[in-house]
Amino acid sequence: MIAFNFEYYKPDSLGEAVKLYRKLSESGKEPLYYSGGTEIITMARRNDLVTKAVIDIKGIPECNVFEIKGDKLIIGAAVTLNHIDESKLISFISNTADFPADHTSRNKITVGGNICGKIIYKESVLGHLIGDSSACIYGEKGKRIVPIMQAFNQTLQLEKGEFLFQLAAEMSYSTLPYISVKKTKQGKMEYPLISMAAIKKNNNIQMAFSGVCSFPFRSREMEKYINNRAITKEQRIEQAISHLPAPIFGNIQGSSEYKKFVLRNLLEHTLETLDGEGI
Ligand SMILES: Cc1cc2nc3c(=O)[nH]c(=O)nc-3n(C[C@H](O)[C@H](O)[C@H](O)COP(=O)(O)OP(=O)(O)OC[C@H]3O[C@@H](n4cnc5c(N)ncnc54)[C@H](O)[C@@H]3O)c2cc1C
Repeated sequence: MIAFNFEYYKPDSLGEAVKLYRKLSESGKEPLYYSGGTEIITMARRNDLVTKAVIDIKGIPECNVFEIKGDKLIIGAAVTLNHIDESKLISFISNTADFPADHTSRNKITVGGNICGKIIYKESVLGHLIGDSSACIYGEKGKRIVPIMQAFNQTLQLEKGEFLFQLAAEMSYSTLPYISVKKTKQGKMEYPLISMAAIKKNNNIQMAFSGVCSFPFRSREMEKYINNRAITKEQRIEQAISHLPAPIFGNIQGSSEYKKFVLRNLLEHTLETLDGEGI
């Protein structure tokens, strides 16, 4: 049971959603954009979150789009993870959409909610980070389209009242060699010990991780070292690890030492799979 009352709004346009957000904020209702609702409902039940109003973005046509437009795959923020997984249009984006939670939950969980939620793993962002997707954000000043590597810094950088309405992924990347791996402590349906995805583009590896640090990331610095063919494979791995963007985050899934061991193995696997001649 949710121990507080809140108002529910379902606008049918981007502009209306933003106007509602402003009006509700001004009246002190601390509104939240609502997508799949799985996290909002769970946190509200536990009293980890309080709001007086939610704005459901599922009635906005742009948020439900899933289509190829020119050279982009446009994915609405309210599209479920299962839908993205089952499409298989860009394999590494589909595979990373299949990482969070269990199949039944992924029927509800949306890509926007997973990327913008409070839970630190946000595994579906990994495919977009390595795939150089763009984040399409709507706010009071209208639409802005930002490369996800710029828009996502530990979390998606949104100004007050803004929301993610689409992701635009590069269709030309759909043929690139890739790997996607989720390592958990026990079963697949757990938070990740480490999950990662990598592609090889123009002879360089692009890789992103969740579970290593306390936020998901893709690090160009690490990529510089992993792609340095002037040094040995072991040196490439060690130098990449020593340039993580933050300390390894030990938790119930695994200690930082154990995560470092798993990360080393994953980087070895990445090089073995993606670094060979002719790949
Ligand atoms: C059983 C279970 C297991 C899970 N396991 C994992 C896991 O292993 N890995 C992992 O990464 N995650 C996992 N999660 C977390 C889960 O992915 C998030 O809680 C969920 O993705 C939220 O998605 P939603 O669409 O339901 O979002 P909602 O509950 O609708 O929203 C979540 C938050 O994001 C905000 N928000 C939603 N959409 C937007 C938007 N378009 N723009 C701006 N803000 C927005 C909301 O205001 C809210 O603060 C798990 C969740 C469950 C229920």
